[in-house]
Amino acid sequence: MLVTVGWGIGSAIYVDGHVHVGRDGLAGERGHSTVAEDGGLCSCGNRGCLELCSSAAAIVRRVRSELEHGVASSLIDEVSGNLDDLSVEVIAAAAKSHERLSERVLAEAGMHLGTALAGVVNLLNPEKVILSGKVPQVAGEVTLGPLLYSLRQRVLPWAVKDLAVVVSEFGEEAAAVGMALVAAEGVLKARCREVQGTDSRHGERPTPDQSVSAKANSTPAKEDIARTE
Ligand SMILES: [Zn+2]
Repeated sequence: MLVTVGWGIGSAIYVDGHVHVGRDGLAGERGHSTVAEDGGLCSCGNRGCLELCSSAAAIVRRVRSELEHGVASSLIDEVSGNLDDLSVEVIAAAAKSHERLSERVLAEAGMHLGTALAGVVNLLNPEKVILSGKVPQVAGEVTLGPLLYSLRQRVLPWAVKDLAVVVSEFGEEAAAVGMALVAAEGVLKARCREVQGTDSRHGERPTPDQSVSAKANSTPAKEDIARTE
């Protein structure tokens, strides 16, 4: 399973060599699963969606809000007093220097991600969870540690025992690459159906004996002539 945590949050479920897209292509919409029942209102109309808690946009928004409400932080100096310059990269760098507000917000984002992943791990028992996107890549252990703690607290012990959780080097482009692969697989399947349809319109596939016979009656190819001369 791939989970991308960038400006938004999405995921892809890879089963038996294929991306599972669901009936309407909506499978993997982790960003809009509820992790805080009394949380804020999301753009999807639901409350407390994962995207409101753990996406890069949510992290920047939360840190900015606390700074605007007077929470003391060296982040103000990091952006020279201009809160428009806040980014998840700036926050992650500050967290790695043990700036408390940044550490707390990134850790809470990780805890919520772990809660959301626990439900999927219990449901699907995946072999591997791959995290991609800006948040896991720039925050690293600051977010990953709380994520794994939260996941282990909530998932069935034997479902997490051999579960690999890794961070991919793919960034925001992971979704585009995945969509391209799904589209390519769809084209190939459609082409296969066309070919099979053509075969069935022309009758049964030839048996091996018929095939040999048909070849023997056809005009020999140049290489066949070369071999027989
Ligand atoms: Zn939502």
